[in-house]
Amino acid sequence: MTSLPLIFDAPKRGMPPRHLADLSESERREAAAELGYPAFRADQLSRHYFARLENDPAQMTDLPAAARSELGAALLPSLLTEVRHLETDAGTTRKTLWKLHDGTLVESVLMRYPGRMTVCVSSQAGCGMACPFCATGQGGLKRNLSTGEIVEQVAAAARSAARGELGGGVGRLSNVVFMGMGEPLANYNRVVAALHRLIDPSPAGLGLAQRSITVSTVGLVPAIRKLTDEGLNVTLAVSLHAPDDELRNTLVPVNTRWNVEEVLEAADGFADRTGRRYSIEYAMIRDVNDHAWRADLLGEMLRGRLAHVNLIPLNPTPGSQWDASPKSVEREFVRGLEQHGVSVTVRDTRGREIDGACGQLAASG
Ligand code: SAH
Repeated sequence: MTSLPLIFDAPKRGMPPRHLADLSESERREAAAELGYPAFRADQLSRHYFARLENDPAQMTDLPAAARSELGAALLPSLLTEVRHLETDAGTTRKTLWKLHDGTLVESVLMRYPGRMTVCVSSQAGCGMACPFCATGQGGLKRNLSTGEIVEQVAAAARSAARGELGGGVGRLSNVVFMGMGEPLANYNRVVAALHRLIDPSPAGLGLAQRSITVSTVGLVPAIRKLTDEGLNVTLAVSLHAPDDELRNTLVPVNTRWNVEEVLEAADGFADRTGRRYSIEYAMIRDVNDHAWRADLLGEMLRGRLAHVNLIPLNPTPGSQWDASPKSVEREFVRGLEQHGVSVTVRDTRGREIDGACGQLAASG
């Protein structure tokens, strides 16, 4: 490859080769020009990749053979190799283990629901946030994923859906949740670039609706504020797990940097700008955070805020002594929140049998 101007991050150790999905539309045209091709060749590649979900240059027969191989090698390197996939729920939930170019492993989970299809993607290999109840958090952070590696998880899911590989037949990917491995806002620039690729209208991007994309965070306050200023109308989810700082300091260690009130204020700022409510995620952990007084305190804090609570029954992780709360306790917790006028749902435990549910992604080979 000829030397290119640094139109994106300088190569980082372990980071994959440059990919079409790392680049904005104009950067793709520049990259084509650098290789001696007219801009419309970049547009053709985009149409194949984002609109037709084709990532094999050999299939792009409307390009001359030389362009196919040269542009393919320069802009469509293979980023993800499937190691295996596991299915459950009659094939409507599918977890895929991917190997990245440097051997790093990550997972994503594709789920079909009535009326929508959602992929849960990883933004980092491992995670540095060290939440003690989460399997991913136990291994630490291995590396950030590139924008291309994130987008390719979504493109692969869209391909699976379109080819009818999921139980229920041919479908269309509609939703993306950044709830796989990693803390998306700790890989901020690459995640924001990925969001643009997902929402840019086809064929420049995948053309997904902004509100159908959820970014879930432990509550990195400066990054939430920055995301607010991006003007993206994606959905924000905040992993709270406790209404009081004393407990949250232990469940979500980054709380010692930005506490509950600061996190909620930052989320309020996001909701004020987008006009849409944010989600509070709350894993129900037996005898740890499921007390009636905590439901009451949380309800009091959220009253009048543009927030919705999503309770997640704790999913088992290896070596943990913790359990999910009993259903009766969960019901009391829901009632406690509702008494304050707070809207609450309980998330299902999709994929639990294949270690594909929230907090279970560990990507062991
Ligand atoms: N780092 C981001 C996104 C990844 S996790 C975040 O923390 O928000 C997606 C959700 O699953 C988070 O709310 C996380 O706290 C939750 N989670 C982690 N481990 C879990 C477990 N064992 N059971 C249930 N939910 C869990």
